[in-house]
Amino acid sequence: MLNIVLFGPPGAGKGTQSAKLIESYQLVHISTGDLFRKHLGEGTELGKLAKSYMDAGNLVPDDVVIGMVEDKIKEHQEDKGFIFDGFPRTVNQAEALDSMLGKYDLSISGMIALDVPTEELKKRIKERAKVSGRVDDQDDAKIDNRLRVYEQETKPVAGYYQESGKHKEVNGVGSVDDIFKQITDIIATY
Ligand code: AMP
Repeated sequence: MLNIVLFGPPGAGKGTQSAKLIESYQLVHISTGDLFRKHLGEGTELGKLAKSYMDAGNLVPDDVVIGMVEDKIKEHQEDKGFIFDGFPRTVNQAEALDSMLGKYDLSISGMIALDVPTEELKKRIKERAKVSGRVDDQDDAKIDNRLRVYEQETKPVAGYYQESGKHKEVNGVGSVDDIFKQITDIIATY
């Protein structure tokens, strides 16, 4: 199985590249942000719980996120593999992911980080705000908070994968196809 963590700050292009990857490699896309937005839209208990964290640009508690991901892994363990997008976002989540996959004799093939300068991220999120309808894309304070949360809580996850030699970085500025090529070149080495 090909199990990839696509990593990067908000606005780095994880969603765009995931869409291309699932098509090329027939992988199951696990985007925790998309899953939460689906719950929000359907008005489930999980959605209600996640809403205040999401609206403010803070992380939803680990146990909630991890439980949601575990259900998805269970559902799709016979598939060709997973793209994890927006997960793991804390070292605790990364450890939980390893142990959840381990239960099914699976593991992460590699983590690919999209590198994009902060000013470019802000520009992209504001552009996306025009069409996304996302509350957390709408104002500078929320965007700044999400970038701060990324720096403080999520960036250490890169170190976690570096320790096991699974961390690779690509330049996330350029054409969608050029970035995709860099990613597929890395996948070819797995
Ligand atoms: P995203 O679409 O990945 O930018 O996620 C939108 C929001 O959903 C985040 O700002 C968090 O509030 C929440 N969220 C998504 N994934 C996670 C995660 N792995 N851990 C905690 N919160 C998450």
